[in-house]
Amino acid sequence: REPYPAPKAGLLRRPTTTLAQIGARELRDPRLAALLDAYAWTYGFDPATAPASAAVLPYMEQTFGSWYVGGGLRALADAVYERCLERRVAFVFDTPVEEVLEKDGRAAGVRLAGGGTVEADQVVSGAPVPALHRDHVVPRLSGDAPTPHQAVGTSRVTVCLALRGPREAEAVHRTVVHGADGRPTVTVLRPDDPALRPDADHEAVTVTATVPTSPERDAAGWEAFADRMVEAAGQAVPGLPERLLWRHVRTPEDVRRDTGVAEVPGPALAGAGGRLLPAGNPSPLPGLWLAGGWAHPGGGLAHAGMSGALVAGFIVEGADFRGSR
Ligand SMILES: Cc1cc2nc3c(=O)[nH]c(=O)nc-3n(C[C@H](O)[C@H](O)[C@H](O)COP(=O)(O)OP(=O)(O)OC[C@H]3O[C@@H](n4cnc5c(N)ncnc54)[C@H](O)[C@@H]3O)c2cc1C
Repeated sequence: REPYPAPKAGLLRRPTTTLAQIGARELRDPRLAALLDAYAWTYGFDPATAPASAAVLPYMEQTFGSWYVGGGLRALADAVYERCLERRVAFVFDTPVEEVLEKDGRAAGVRLAGGGTVEADQVVSGAPVPALHRDHVVPRLSGDAPTPHQAVGTSRVTVCLALRGPREAEAVHRTVVHGADGRPTVTVLRPDDPALRPDADHEAVTVTATVPTSPERDAAGWEAFADRMVEAAGQAVPGLPERLLWRHVRTPEDVRRDTGVAEVPGPALAGAGGRLLPAGNPSPLPGLWLAGGWAHPGGGLAHAGMSGALVAGFIVEGADFRGSR
């Protein structure tokens, strides 16, 4: 059942069920509607079919603001890692889990690449749910009725730019340059963060674009795509072509290599027939929990963190846990 029935509007009293309908009805200026739509496109959701609940994304940002991690995202990973070491977490790097072991109908540990096993009372998987299916990591999840998860067909291309010359004091942190004339829509990030540049006479700029994962492109194809992204970014960075020292391009193939799948999931959204709901945190196998961007409440760093908090709540407080009070 649709938990939030859409209000009806217009002569025919049709319900407003998609983000595009909200834009058309609430925002008369097509440029404002394009701004609204961009929040959906970033996650690969087509505003024409994305549920109206996607309007919560700009609402959250406009109401509560957005966060930037000083030092870039690497600093967040480092901080979490240090915290885990303090709490005596043991890490085993470059060693995929090949199978979640089952005993008496519940998860009992994991088998690692190379043959070692680790016993556990509870197993929490942060790996992408589609990769668990594909690689038969949890035989029960890969059977006839695999765990449902968000349907995503898009990834990201990231172009990291090293520029000579200082960042202007009034430069905007984030600019969305909408696609035109064959150029993709890009997000241009220019944080004023000394940790990202060697000195005040240089600037680091990150340009991202959301792209379909098929058809795949070869390296030359991605370089050509990156050329068009940089061209678009020029609208937000004065003198970009003359200032460019070098660039580094990260493609969906890099995302696949680093995470297990090329697709990048978005946040959980109600509506759309459940198509945009991630996997639930309790898995069908008792004792195995799903966390991370492919589990409830979905992709994005804040959501991925929340999924971990929810799983911790389930394990500590039991199956009735419904969030902190
Ligand atoms: C280019 C790009 C830009 C983004 N920008 C933003 C942004 O600006 N803001 C934001 O909030 N979010 C952003 N996101 C999304 C955000 O990065 C993700 O939602 C978040 O990192 C998901 O975290 P995670 O822990 O679920 O998984 P991931 O960070 O994807 O990590 C999954 C991990 O599981 C490991 N793994 C996979 N299979 C196995 C296995 N069998 N055994 C052991 N380990 C395994 C992988 O090696 C990987 O380390 C972006 C994502 C991308 C790709």
